[in-house]
Amino acid sequence: MKTCSRRDFLTQTALPAAVVGGSIAAGGCAPRPSQGNGPAVHTGKTYRWKMVTTWPPHFPVMGEGADNLAKWIKDMSAGRLEIQVYGGGELVPALQAFEAVSQGTAEMGHGASYYWAGKAPAAQFFAAVPFGMNAQQMNAWLYAGGGMQLWQEVYAAFDLVPFPIGNSGVQMGGWFNKEIRSINDIKGLKMRIPGLGGKVIAQAGGSAVLSAGGEIYTNLERGVIDATEWVGPYHDFLMGFHKIAKYYYYPGWHEPGTVLEMFVNKRAFEQLPLDLQEIVRAAAYRSNLSLLSELESKNYQYLNTLIDEHGVKVVAFPKDVLDTFRKYAKDVISDLTASDALSKKVYQSFDRFRKQVDGWAEISEKAYYRSVGE
Ligand code: CA
Repeated sequence: MKTCSRRDFLTQTALPAAVVGGSIAAGGCAPRPSQGNGPAVHTGKTYRWKMVTTWPPHFPVMGEGADNLAKWIKDMSAGRLEIQVYGGGELVPALQAFEAVSQGTAEMGHGASYYWAGKAPAAQFFAAVPFGMNAQQMNAWLYAGGGMQLWQEVYAAFDLVPFPIGNSGVQMGGWFNKEIRSINDIKGLKMRIPGLGGKVIAQAGGSAVLSAGGEIYTNLERGVIDATEWVGPYHDFLMGFHKIAKYYYYPGWHEPGTVLEMFVNKRAFEQLPLDLQEIVRAAAYRSNLSLLSELESKNYQYLNTLIDEHGVKVVAFPKDVLDTFRKYAKDVISDLTASDALSKKVYQSFDRFRKQVDGWAEISEKAYYRSVGE
């Protein structure tokens, strides 16, 4: 996978907005994907789709992941399903990808479901929950614990079919220009942090800003924000945050295993022949494993680079700050589930599963880590 400098991917100019290919998604009435239906006959017909993403064009790992998905689907289908990938802002603004695919402007989208909290509050549980489940546990909940059915239910209201296509693993806590010694240091802090974690920061007296990936560096450099989280050492190094922020905090309490998503216009998906539907599913599985594996292999390497070559100060959040965040996270989730029935339904499943796997993790993963020690 090619490594881009921050400059490369942040300054890619947007938009050759030529509309590529024609959508076949309009019109017709097709059966639901859950029934396993669709044209069963291999007609040899070629489908040309557009994929809109929340990332700048060819953005490291995530944008490249979107590019790879399109390539794998084209290769597996011998060119019968061809997908043109658009970075954020090329066809529609980054944070309008959900709406664009829902309305059929594009057939496919690529992002993270907490970006759509304003439209579908329950969507947040399929991306990241503060102090929630890690990557392995999220995959288990989604694929084998009922999570996918709930995600499909939430997105069905928007004529979308969701797929997990990657996971960040445990993220870092973020970049700060001042030390966080107590919860009082969060007061007045303007931080770029998405999702439920952002609500926790707000509860602690800070303000949470949601901005697309391409805008964060400039906002931090200009003081529009005082702090930002992004992902982990590899991504963060590529973003260049070490050049403009002093302290690099851990752990990423707000995103312990963030799921990245692909979403497909439901009607467009149902109009695909069954073999192409299976190819889309298979590519999503491949992407999910591929992204997590790549990040796990690179994060430690880039953590060392940040410390050894750039003198970054890596600091743990104080215990009482984490304890307070955890308390606020419970409040934030309670407020959400009290105000939205679908969020309540999804969170009940999430929380039940989390408690079960945590009991198992005590004597498997956690016990194993402790046994390895230093
Ligand atoms: Ca993040």
